[in-house]
Amino acid sequence: MASLEVHRGDITKLAVDAIVNAANSSLLGGGGVDGAIHRAAGPELLHACSLLGGCKTGDAKATSGFRLPAKWVFHTVGPVWNGGGSGEDDLLASCYTCCLDLAREHGAQSIAFPAISTGVYRFPLGRATEIAVRTVREHAHTPLLDRVLFVVFSDEAERAYAALLR
Ligand code: ADP
Repeated sequence: MASLEVHRGDITKLAVDAIVNAANSSLLGGGGVDGAIHRAAGPELLHACSLLGGCKTGDAKATSGFRLPAKWVFHTVGPVWNGGGSGEDDLLASCYTCCLDLAREHGAQSIAFPAISTGVYRFPLGRATEIAVRTVREHAHTPLLDRVLFVVFSDEAERAYAALLR
């Protein structure tokens, strides 16, 4: 089982094998963590993403990390929060499992996740962190994977993950 850790800081700075991007379905860039990843990775990332044909909510697709310290970016599309009755919980869990599947396919030893859907997509933070930690605990048995980082920007998010990882 991989170790699960919370890390406060900018995901684009992390020298892990894979960082996860909370993208939108076009995969053509956006705000928040998506914008930060594209700025740090350089224009080659946008070109690579433009060849992927978009991505469905709950799914994930991989590219190189280009100018990032990370080798790969796994682009996943979280659900927009719409009250919780539209399958949001399962779609969010699917983002985590699809990224862990990509980690296995790529032989990644370390992966860093942002708090998918908790920004512009308004998924309630506590509910999202519970799904993130539970899903990773259930699926992080990939043989090579030894570190999973939950990357946070705020005190509130750091506390939410820390409480679940104790
Ligand atoms: P979404 O559209 O999936 O809600 P956002 O990018 O708006 O995605 O937000 C997802 C989370 O990523 C938020 O909790 C936000 O604070 C966080 N975030 C934004 N920029 C970064 C970054 N550079 N590194 C790590 N987390 C970030």
